[in-house]
Amino acid sequence: MGLLDGKTAIITGAASPRGLGKASARLFAEHGARVAILDLDAAQSEAAAADLPGAGHIGLACDVTDKWACIDTVAAVLDAFGQVDILINNAGITQPLKVMEIEPGNYDAVLDVNLRGTLYMSQALIPHLRERNTGAIVNMSSVSAQRGGGIFGGPHYSAAKAGILGLTKAMARELAPDGIRVNAICPGFIATDITAGKLTPEMKVTILDGIPMGRAGEASDVAGCALFLASDLSAYVTGSEVDVNGGSLI
Ligand code: NAD
Repeated sequence: MGLLDGKTAIITGAASPRGLGKASARLFAEHGARVAILDLDAAQSEAAAADLPGAGHIGLACDVTDKWACIDTVAAVLDAFGQVDILINNAGITQPLKVMEIEPGNYDAVLDVNLRGTLYMSQALIPHLRERNTGAIVNMSSVSAQRGGGIFGGPHYSAAKAGILGLTKAMARELAPDGIRVNAICPGFIATDITAGKLTPEMKVTILDGIPMGRAGEASDVAGCALFLASDLSAYVTGSEVDVNGGSLI
């Protein structure tokens, strides 16, 4: 028996093969969910959905910075699945800039995908979740929000991810009476395409020195936490930020 038998999930930014969204999609599918993978490219989203275990998954193009695209895509998923129980707001971008290097376009791009996208996708699905008086929303923040930056993320990325924590708590408070839970995950350093091939040996030593568990995280480590927050195992958990960082903040 799977933890998500009979459930359906939307996961944004989930077409990247080594990414956190794809790992969550795979684990959710293994636990019985039907999954809608949303990402910028339709063919990549479809291919990612076809790669999942089980049947009935779909892949769709959706730019989460576009409010109307979010609304139309959620409507298309509802047409296909009939209902949606889970939303994972995972799409994100980062830019390795220092504070004085951030131009208006950089600020817009990073806040748009990470923060605006989280709001727009949630707004597109909330009316349906409210109607059914149930739902779990999981927002992808970052350790960068908590400790003010990381190896790749600039201050604008930290700001966007910190904004996601505020948005998560406010939405959790507002939506709790509607039976909708909202939580955030703060991954630490996880080996994915965002981090792949960009590390010098010195950077690796610095990163691992700061992780008490002595290893980088795997996408599956984050997926396990997403599964917990998406499933009824976390039925009394809302407004939380869960660290998946090997102890980096101890
Ligand atoms: P990734 O680059 O592998 O995947 C991100 C996905 O988002 C890509 O498939 C990309 O196409 C998609 N995307 C970008 N802009 C989009 C848009 N406008 N609309 C829809 N999709 C869009 O990254 P990842 O490492 O899997 O990261 C996933 C999430 O986890 C991100 O929010 C990231 O900030 C966060 N995170 C990652 C780490 C890490 O160490 N990898 C740490 C902390 C937080």
